[in-house]
Amino acid sequence: MSATNRTVGCAPAARKGATVWLATAALIVLAVLAANPAAAGPEGCQPVPPAGVAARRIVQSYASVLDLCTRGAVRRIAIRSMRLDGKETMLLVDPDRLTTSLEPAACWACSPVTDEQVAESRFESAVRRARDKEGRPLGDARMNAGFTDVSGSGASITLDLCPSRKPLDRWILSAVAARQDGAPVALSVTGAWMRSHPADMAWLLEQNRAGALAITWVDHTDLHRYVPGLRPDRNLMLLPGTDPVAEILGAERQLIAAGGTPSVFFRFPGLVSTPALSEVVASQHLVVLGASAWLALGQKPRPGSVILAHANGNEPQGLAALSKQLSGNPDILPLRAVLDVR
Ligand SMILES: [Zn+2]
Repeated sequence: MSATNRTVGCAPAARKGATVWLATAALIVLAVLAANPAAAGPEGCQPVPPAGVAARRIVQSYASVLDLCTRGAVRRIAIRSMRLDGKETMLLVDPDRLTTSLEPAACWACSPVTDEQVAESRFESAVRRARDKEGRPLGDARMNAGFTDVSGSGASITLDLCPSRKPLDRWILSAVAARQDGAPVALSVTGAWMRSHPADMAWLLEQNRAGALAITWVDHTDLHRYVPGLRPDRNLMLLPGTDPVAEILGAERQLIAAGGTPSVFFRFPGLVSTPALSEVVASQHLVVLGASAWLALGQKPRPGSVILAHANGNEPQGLAALSKQLSGNPDILPLRAVLDVR
């Protein structure tokens, strides 16, 4: 189904849904403001800026929540709460654009909601639709569940940073940046990679801060365990002893400590999952992201593709193919953010 068809076919229901969602939000806002009239105060209420290259943030009491938060007419959905450098902080999602920000909790009036109460938002709809996109069977598991395409023209580049002893392939990120001003790119980061590559991580954050790249940080688990030679449907997150929630939250904590802001997206290691694992990801209010063009496997990008390659030193053939695409395939331009999943 095309984006156009979906919009036209579902317009009345969408309007009704939006009305319910706004009315629910308004009621909760009024209740919360009545209880906490100072919450909407504007002082010191800017989003938490990226940490300096040398500075590490201290992240404590990191927890999953689902709150509706308002400040004046602005509505956001909080999916995490934490103490960040000693200050109560929320990870807020723009329910329409799917962008995220770290914000001081004191600046927002927040109140717990159920998934049902925000079901009509684009965000919650994306969480659920991604959870239900099954991919293809792979033995006892499945491959490539979740969103695999973006809407409109152009394509979206995603680069995975699975654990690796090799340095970041900075050259491919520079090639992406050279192709388009503020080029959007999604980086699927693991806690293990961030811990072992602090200088590369600082370089990436600087590219993002300077505007050369517009990075969407995708959660790719904390440990990304992998046993060479073991069949894929018993490997990766299906290895005995995997704690999926700890894997999800651990990578986010590491990213925030390094100076980044988690997005709403999650990518399964090896793209291998089960329905139960997708359910866990949805329970943590994240959107499963697959891919439709894994370049190292010979898959060709087309308009709307989510392109996958690895920039962790372990997939030179994928990066060579991406370099070729950047210089020779107009179908992948303009480069698109994964925020435009469809
Ligand atoms: Zn990986």
